[in-house]
Amino acid sequence: MIAVPFNKPHLTGKEAHYMYEAVYECKLSGNGKFTKRCQQWLEDRYGFRKCLLTSSGTDALEMCAMLCQLHPGDEVIIPSYTFVSTALAFLREGAKVVFADSMSRNPNIDADLLESLITPRTKVIVPVHYAGVACDMDAILAVANKHNLLVVEDAAQAIDSYYKGRPLGSIGHLAAFSFHETKNITAGGEGGLLVVNDERFVRRAEIIWEKGTNRAEFFRGEVNKYGWVDMGSSFLPSEVNAAFLWAQLENLDAIQEKRKQLWLRYYESLKPLAEQGLFVLPDVPDYASLNAHMFYLVLPSLEKRTALIANLRERGIQAVFHYLSLHSSDYYRDKHDGRALPQCDRYADCLVRLPLYYDLTIEQVDEICQAIHTIF
Ligand SMILES: *Cc1c(COP(=O)(O)O)cnc(C)c1O
Repeated sequence: MIAVPFNKPHLTGKEAHYMYEAVYECKLSGNGKFTKRCQQWLEDRYGFRKCLLTSSGTDALEMCAMLCQLHPGDEVIIPSYTFVSTALAFLREGAKVVFADSMSRNPNIDADLLESLITPRTKVIVPVHYAGVACDMDAILAVANKHNLLVVEDAAQAIDSYYKGRPLGSIGHLAAFSFHETKNITAGGEGGLLVVNDERFVRRAEIIWEKGTNRAEFFRGEVNKYGWVDMGSSFLPSEVNAAFLWAQLENLDAIQEKRKQLWLRYYESLKPLAEQGLFVLPDVPDYASLNAHMFYLVLPSLEKRTALIANLRERGIQAVFHYLSLHSSDYYRDKHDGRALPQCDRYADCLVRLPLYYDLTIEQVDEICQAIHTIF
């Protein structure tokens, strides 16, 4: 019997109220009052140049990839230890995905290896801020600037997190966030956000968002009719989802504070075991902030991780592993250039995530830590 699940979406209490408001006013399709309210709030709080809500983080990544205007054979550097969508979005645009290894200190892309992966066809680097912890953005931007590359941040897990005081998602030319129910805040199960920081992409982003039409300009009264002007799809979410998200944004500070409290409790309680070398705790470099998206341990071997997950399960605690390296997935194995990516494989085999969600209590964290102490 699972007494403590791995994740549980949090309701702030206002979601149904705002969703009812959207329904009652009968403005249900996208880009209405709640969508605009969420976008404006995010732009103001984080200094994003332009925000567009999307139906998922995957959609936001697909918009990023479309905006990069890639040609067949263009190369995109992506960490192998990430969610499928990071790579899929660029593959769908005909790009060649070049997988990069993670750092040994944490699962983020190893910026020291980037230079060796650059070819004349390289167009984009996609840093993924794993667990909401910033990648080494100065090092990544230095390589990108030197070779005139675009930087797309996969900030799906990184809401309200910072790099040297700069909000994640505000640093690359483009960024994607996710509001899936497993993330810190949700738009009612599925949702995402495209952030455009480079002015050059703003107009085209709005057009791609609205099925290749200039409808957004029409609604602002900038043109007197709208039509088909470019590629696009239907990326905007319904107002019902935006209304749900608004209730979560209003409570973001409280949500973040509680999550950080739980995260720090795990960290302090498990430190003595980490000091004995039994596992490695999450790494938050000096340049990064904590948004408490995830609490993970890195075990010394696959066998030890499997045993820990089974042991916790017997005690009613659901701990789960995470990504399998994309370069060795069924779909990509044959397309990969054969380079070994040892750190990706290490995280794929040895990383385990512990329960972390708003409604978890400090007492439950203590029980989980006590169980881990007992197991070891
Ligand atoms: C969650 C996630 C995504 C996908 O977001 P969806 O909203 O589920 O489409 C992409 N990349 C990373 C790193 C994620 O964690």
